[in-house]
Amino acid sequence: MSLMRSVLLGISENRWMRARGPRLWFVRRASRAFMPGDEFADMLRAAGELRPLGIDTVFTRLGENVTDASEASFVTRHYVEVLDALGTAGIRCEPSIKLTQLGLDLDKEQSYANLRALAARAHATGNYLWIDMEQTSYVDVTLELTKRLKAEFPRVGVCLQAYLYRTMDDLNALVEQGIGVRLVKGAYKEPATLAYPKKADVDENFFTLATVMLECLSRKNGFRPVFGTHDVNLIARIRAHAERAGLAARDVEVHMLYGIQRGEQLRLVKDGAIVRVLVAYGSFWFPWYMRRLAERPANVWFVVKSMFAG
Ligand SMILES: Cc1cc2nc3c(=O)[nH]c(=O)nc-3n(C[C@H](O)[C@H](O)[C@H](O)COP(=O)(O)OP(=O)(O)OC[C@H]3O[C@@H](n4cnc5c(N)ncnc54)[C@H](O)[C@@H]3O)c2cc1C
Repeated sequence: MSLMRSVLLGISENRWMRARGPRLWFVRRASRAFMPGDEFADMLRAAGELRPLGIDTVFTRLGENVTDASEASFVTRHYVEVLDALGTAGIRCEPSIKLTQLGLDLDKEQSYANLRALAARAHATGNYLWIDMEQTSYVDVTLELTKRLKAEFPRVGVCLQAYLYRTMDDLNALVEQGIGVRLVKGAYKEPATLAYPKKADVDENFFTLATVMLECLSRKNGFRPVFGTHDVNLIARIRAHAERAGLAARDVEVHMLYGIQRGEQLRLVKDGAIVRVLVAYGSFWFPWYMRRLAERPANVWFVVKSMFAG
């Protein structure tokens, strides 16, 4: 891991910086490249602009590691209201949530009750519920709660991280239960005992996992393979593999983050792939934005530039 990446990920997890970072106006200004605004209405506006381009949306209200049960309840109510509003308006936006935002650090059973309330509302409104993957200490419990949820609700998916050595085993277990998988490379700082330290190995593992995910499409048990990456070469390799395996262009579903690789998003739509863009909103953007900087440390220059922009 590069020093810069390590420093940025360290900042993203530092409590003092999490509290004070959002007050830095130039960081806030730079973060706007990756999020259309703080409010749900900003997300909806972005989704409305993407739809005519053939791109649907996944959305998340930023927040993690909540330390107050009332905040977890507030977030749950917010998502329930939003799911109802989307259902009524017939807008295709899928929620993606973090379990620590629903109070996992405080009370596992209460966070599951919150999660269940969201899954029930997603189910009732014909939506799909995605669960993000956080640091390795949360992987077991995230998978456990996802599997419990799937026993009750059909359209549930979870994120898996290709940088973890364990992911092939986790993938096989999820496929068995017909749980959707959004495969990503992984955004946190993890030790070499648990995660591939070299980027080339992460990329290769991503491809290997992707081939297994595509093979499992034929099971038709609800398993939904999604590739959450901006890596153009990797996507091209996965699409070529899918074509060789006789799959249709639409069998490859790619999710990207708002503001990243816009040209590639449009190219993929034109080529027949399914593309969704994850749009984030909310005021707790600092750790999330630091992880975006860590993914591409050159982005730090945008922060520096935003200090001097008029
Ligand atoms: C839809 C979605 C959901 C995600 N959910 C999770 C999750 O739940 N848990 C988790 O650990 N991680 C999550 N991630 C983040 C993921 O783990 C990676 O950190 C992130 O996607 C960067 O890796 P990459 O696959 O794009 O490949 P990289 O090899 O890092 O990047 C490939 C190319 O994409 C571009 N790029 C990548 N990142 C950026 C950026 N921040 N700014 C500008 N350009 C960039 C650059 O051109 C780069 O060369 C998610 C990512 C996506 C797209």
